[in-house]
Amino acid sequence: MAESGLSEVAGRLAEVRRRIAAACERSGRDPAGVRLLLATKTVPPERIAEAVLAGASLLGENKVQEGIAKHRQVGSLTARMVEWHFIGHLQTNKVADVLKWSSLVQSVDRPELVDKLQRRLEHEDRTLDVYMQVNTSAEASKFGVHPDAAPDLARRILAADRLALRGLMTIGLLGATPEAARPSLRALRLTRDRLLHEGIVRDEHVQELSMGMTGDLEVAIEECATLVRVGTAVFGPRPTPDTLYWPV
Ligand SMILES: *Cc1c(COP(=O)(O)O)cnc(C)c1O
Repeated sequence: MAESGLSEVAGRLAEVRRRIAAACERSGRDPAGVRLLLATKTVPPERIAEAVLAGASLLGENKVQEGIAKHRQVGSLTARMVEWHFIGHLQTNKVADVLKWSSLVQSVDRPELVDKLQRRLEHEDRTLDVYMQVNTSAEASKFGVHPDAAPDLARRILAADRLALRGLMTIGLLGATPEAARPSLRALRLTRDRLLHEGIVRDEHVQELSMGMTGDLEVAIEECATLVRVGTAVFGPRPTPDTLYWPV
């Protein structure tokens, strides 16, 4: 069982890498410009460790407490250096705990969170890389700043000297087909272009576009994603509904 599990995760990871490479080739992009983050929600540490031993080096968790435990367990199972991003909805009372294990928060989506992170980082005398999460699909069930409010939130992040804005993130529309996601994924790129055009951010603040999941990673790459976040394609279906992680 353990043996077949191991080859299964490694094989699925290789298949995702092939999908990324093929999408890059079709859109004339350098595969080195697209990083793969594995979304590990609900996945036990042993299976995450298999992916790490098969070469995965960037992981993302949605829940602060799950992240603390897995960060430690995967570290001791693999003895490898891996980078952990926080990709879920961050409550302000969890800010101190998220800073214990995650090197980047992809889901900065509101002014109170910016202020809370800034205060905590001052207290710890350190800085943190962040992405701004944009709600590009207008679905009430998901977090992220509305594109119209993105300029104000970007200004707020830039004014917080302990936060280093590095990119934008979106979940996108979870539709019946990959093409259904295209307008929402394109909207992240257009939000970036608008922020640049209006002089609100500089290139260095929006180097990363984090978008694309198991169902739509090819479309995301065509729309200029620099980081795709994949769970199901590597770890299989999850036992719990995603509404647990993207509450209404
Ligand atoms: C679960 C999750 C993913 C990965 O989704 P899959 O469809 O399983 O690939 C990506 N991003 C976020 C924020 C997630 O919560």
